[in-house]
Amino acid sequence: MKLLDALLDLLYPPRCTFCHRMLRNGHAPVCEKCLLALPYTGPLARREKIAHLDACYAPLFYEKDVRESLLRFKFDGLTGYAGVYAGFMLKCIDENGISCDSIAWVPVSRKKLRSRGYDQAQLLAQELAVRMGLPCRKMLVKNRENRQQSLLANAAERRANVKGVYDCPSPEIVQGKHILLVDDIVTSGATLSECARILRQNGALSVTAIAVACAKDGK
Ligand SMILES: [Zn+2]
Repeated sequence: MKLLDALLDLLYPPRCTFCHRMLRNGHAPVCEKCLLALPYTGPLARREKIAHLDACYAPLFYEKDVRESLLRFKFDGLTGYAGVYAGFMLKCIDENGISCDSIAWVPVSRKKLRSRGYDQAQLLAQELAVRMGLPCRKMLVKNRENRQQSLLANAAERRANVKGVYDCPSPEIVQGKHILLVDDIVTSGATLSECARILRQNGALSVTAIAVACAKDGK
């Protein structure tokens, strides 16, 4: 196994999850420089006033290396990042005393899942579920493709664009639950809000959201 690891390192040298520079010492997934200099949200981790959500949290701001890293995770197949991000999210969950009894995620459509091969928010939810010892359930499905939220200019358009896009196929797994809803990035919060609306409509007692990163200005 050690020989295989050494060969793999030679072929694919381990790189920092965020700045993507080669890691010289050890196999920590994040280099020391990034650990010190990442755009942590700190006291700004919590966002309130997103309709239907109790609160929304993110450990990092969506900018620079965090942005580049999340793009590799989402589009270049670097699925191993999920475990690294989950570590940051877990710290945020602990620091903010977030409590829940079930984990769900904001799903991609079946079409997107086929073309991409994985659902990035599901990977994050599964990593968190293992670490927190909680069930991770498919509480939502995305029933059609909509326009990309980030291409829409204002909040009203974003709300309209996600309306009715998600369904809850098995209300019995949602009823009476305190749900942690996981996504990769939160911008305006319109998608998370719509997902939380559906979960509440189907009997969720509370819905708290967490993402890896959030936009600084909520756009
Ligand atoms: Zn780095």
